[in-house]
Amino acid sequence: MSADKSVDALSAAVRAFAQEREWGTYHDPKNLVMALAAEVGELAALLRWVPNSESDRFAAVPSSRQQLANEIGDVGIVLFSLCDRLGIDLRQAIEDKLRLNAANYPADIARGHAERPEAPNCELATPESAVDAAADFGVDIDQLRASLKLTPEERIARLDENAEFVRELRRVNPTTGCRRS
Ligand SMILES: [Mg+2]
Repeated sequence: MSADKSVDALSAAVRAFAQEREWGTYHDPKNLVMALAAEVGELAALLRWVPNSESDRFAAVPSSRQQLANEIGDVGIVLFSLCDRLGIDLRQAIEDKLRLNAANYPADIARGHAERPEAPNCELATPESAVDAAADFGVDIDQLRASLKLTPEERIARLDENAEFVRELRRVNPTTGCRRS
């Protein structure tokens, strides 16, 4: 298989494989999601008892690497099958989600932190610090809170309107009121 094979060509190859075997009746969305979870489980099982500190080394061992690649291949095949069945463009879904993730995890705030930055799509109402910050930035907090009900696209646009405040708010822990530096 060529290294530059397109996503569309790979998807078509996966579809053809299933069609040749008349597996379409088994490939309803529920079954495919179960299959995806099972394949991810098989991938996870390979690393289950490997210490974190050893997992890079384990994955570099040729026999381990081949096993991991096999299971990753299975995950990819089932994911393509699921997208095909649902009529979801995998490439578009990834691009859209990356854009949303970029809004939820601003690099200058999320850098070096595994946890999600405190986000304005959590609970804006409770922390006094958020209300105070809104006042400082001249933001209508009720209007911003209403944006939680919008679609992701609309929400990003609304948050963009208040980008400076949103960035400030993400630094505030709504429970403790502590601000991340
Ligand atoms: Mg497998």
